[in-house]
Amino acid sequence: MTSRLANKLFLDKVRKTPSMNVHELLTKVTEELKLDFSLKKGYRTLQKVRAAIEGSHEKQYELLEDFCGELRKANPGSTVFVETEVDDEGISRFKRLYMCLEPLKRGYLAGCRCWIGMDGCFLKGPYGGQLLTTVGMDADNKMYPLAIAVDLRISNSKNWCIMTDKQKGLVQAVRDKLPEAEHRCCAQHLYSNFKLNHRGLALKDRLWRCARASYMNQFIREMELLRQQSELAHQWLADKDPKTWSRSHFRAGMDCDILVNNMSPLSENFEILEKAKRDQSTCIASYAGTNRYRVSCPFGEQFVVDMAGKTCNCRKWQLRGIPCGHAAACINRRHEQPE
Ligand SMILES: [Zn+2]
Repeated sequence: MTSRLANKLFLDKVRKTPSMNVHELLTKVTEELKLDFSLKKGYRTLQKVRAAIEGSHEKQYELLEDFCGELRKANPGSTVFVETEVDDEGISRFKRLYMCLEPLKRGYLAGCRCWIGMDGCFLKGPYGGQLLTTVGMDADNKMYPLAIAVDLRISNSKNWCIMTDKQKGLVQAVRDKLPEAEHRCCAQHLYSNFKLNHRGLALKDRLWRCARASYMNQFIREMELLRQQSELAHQWLADKDPKTWSRSHFRAGMDCDILVNNMSPLSENFEILEKAKRDQSTCIASYAGTNRYRVSCPFGEQFVVDMAGKTCNCRKWQLRGIPCGHAAACINRRHEQPE
């Protein structure tokens, strides 16, 4: 069998199943066509066939402009563009690409929180570069893909929360484009930097307690406990603006209190509510007039819940938009179900 015939044979199979590996391919060819093919020959042919189907990297870059044009045509209202620059030899080269499809924009505006998470990763392959992604969060705290790279027209950025890692470029871009938005930094990135010089489970636990503290007194208490454990670790953390990493300093009313960009550890609304229902059993609520309750908790802690304003001075209700354990105790006292 000539190698031309082999290429043609493989071409159809690989085109139909692009993920096919050489062993699967050889099995298929042997079974269907009763042909014997060596592994080495299989590899070489597969390589050629892949290049024929996908094209070289250079060829693919040349097609980008057309690809973006097709995307715009198929999804009117999308923002898709490629930027190129001319090098010393006068050749136009790829610089960056931005893509935000119209259906994703629409879905984001219709059903997501005023929260944007940004993350980046370095690309492997012959040209390197960086991929930046932005995600939103839907009502069920699930990730919602939004765009790659950033260019959002947000009229009132005061009500927005942007979360990024500590990359200088991103921090500056948010400051320039959305000066009024709340800018949080991913606490996981903060911890990654923290642990370079401050190791150990005890310190890790202390840092996360400071990040999770939802009101000022709790934050001060947790920072003091960290200081008692390590002056140096405390100094390192105290230098970071708590507005960017501790719940106690986050703006209320965002319906979102997450600390990290990777949302896997985040509980769903249902679970948060179930926890609040469990927590309330250790608290005692007493009516303090005009829809307010005083809630006494273990260790002598006291909180004030305002049922009309939907606030508690532990701030969790305002931060998440879901009742905290203290509020649940008040609702229970009123013989209502927290929903
Ligand atoms: Zn509370």
